[in-house]
Amino acid sequence: MKTVIMAGGRGSRLAELTENTGNGIPKPMIPIEGKPLLERAVDCLREQGFTDLILTVGWRRQAIMRYFGDGSGDSPATGRAFGVHISYFEEHTPMGNAGALVRLADSLKEDFLLLNGDLVFDVDLNRFLAFHREKGGLASLLVHPNDHPSDSGLIETDAEGRVIRWLTREEERPSCSRNQVNAGIHLISPRLLDAHRPDAVDKIPPEPIDLDRDLLKPLAGTGQLFAYRSPEYVKDCGTPVRYGEICRDWRRGLAARRSLRHRQRAVFLDRDGTLNRHVGFLKSPEEIELLPGAARAVRMLNRAGWLVILVTNQPVVARGEVTEDELRAIHGRLETLLGQNGAWLDDIYYCPHHTDRGFPGERPELKIECACRKPRPGMLLQAAGDYSIDLEHSWMAGDRESDVAAGRAAGCRTALLWNGAEAPRRLPQESRQSERLPPNCGQTVTCRDLQDFVLRLLEETQEENGNEDEKTGKQTGGKSEPAGGTLSDTGPDQGRNSRSVSSDGGDL
Ligand SMILES: [Zn+2]
Repeated sequence: MKTVIMAGGRGSRLAELTENTGNGIPKPMIPIEGKPLLERAVDCLREQGFTDLILTVGWRRQAIMRYFGDGSGDSPATGRAFGVHISYFEEHTPMGNAGALVRLADSLKEDFLLLNGDLVFDVDLNRFLAFHREKGGLASLLVHPNDHPSDSGLIETDAEGRVIRWLTREEERPSCSRNQVNAGIHLISPRLLDAHRPDAVDKIPPEPIDLDRDLLKPLAGTGQLFAYRSPEYVKDCGTPVRYGEICRDWRRGLAARRSLRHRQRAVFLDRDGTLNRHVGFLKSPEEIELLPGAARAVRMLNRAGWLVILVTNQPVVARGEVTEDELRAIHGRLETLLGQNGAWLDDIYYCPHHTDRGFPGERPELKIECACRKPRPGMLLQAAGDYSIDLEHSWMAGDRESDVAAGRAAGCRTALLWNGAEAPRRLPQESRQSERLPPNCGQTVTCRDLQDFVLRLLEETQEENGNEDEKTGKQTGGKSEPAGGTLSDTGPDQGRNSRSVSSDGGDL
């Protein structure tokens, strides 16, 4: 399979990085820990068998062509062979990032991989390819949640992964959008180019052609464009700030750790009473209110490279009280609120089933004994298969015994969240003990709330959370986010609990 890398961009926002080195360098040659970022992309491609590369080059193309040659030589950075075959398409006048593609159409007879040239990534490409082949669309986009969805283009999909709406950065978005951003990695069928190709190359109009605006976005809603959601590391090196983040992430090994080529560690989270306030049966997006510290906790897990996966029982669907579309909006609201705090969920699994009958409008097909309703472990096991999760080194955190039971049944370690901000709202039968002692249901640890758990987890595993956390916490104001505090604060005097939170837990 051919890979086309669009490496012709000018990168004018990165002038302070590209202009400081004598003659100046093009954006794809910016070093990430001693290697040009384009070479890191070539490494990732070669390791997975993608060795037939076409680079479209324009601005300062000679620097790229001199460095890589035809790919048969050795890397000046490492002395080791590039191990790929490279050909070039030279743009002498700006033709837009897809202008070259249309002109290359004759040499792109099969599905091909198309990459933005300023990406730093570690992605399991063959997994993405399997998705693309199964869906059979004109194009598949790799989409992912990011930490700034409010100023990113958002991709809305249906349950099968078809793109139903594509909102650009400039467009106003609903207050309950899923955090799904186009990452700049695509699989494209040559049939897509057919529609844009006149019968001869010299008849192609000279106007620049933009990949997103002219080729891909018009496919939204046609059923021919699919989105493959991935939690893997993909960042564009578009600004000096992001460049700094990428270098730091690379040093910490974050990109490799998040790649689905490797086994993942996850924290599974319950929803109501763990991330957001418990309001009984939650039925509309407006009822979602994040608990204090919850967004900060998720953000710390994101930055430390843990997958964060929501697993929630939603019997309201079986009862006919909430449709699947409404549930999507509720979860979109949850993702939007988290996104405003720089936090994201890597995925959401819900169980729509319930066996109790007798509700008006109930859906008989969902009135079943299923394998996914907690305390059963079905959602965790499904996620483990989808994301290559090492359950033994993963955690389930929630405020119910059924969360602990589901986690244990899946083979995870478990955290019971007890006596945090939700304590006064617990249903009476669950707080019968006047001291509100946490039940012993086999949990690995008992923590006050999600933030308490995450702080302890990261301390025990001695992981960095990127050291950006405090800064971001201040920027986002955090009306609902207390100052955090150290683990030693979570003693008996802090909660209503008469027992020390840490004494009954055991080691993380
Ligand atoms: Zn179920």
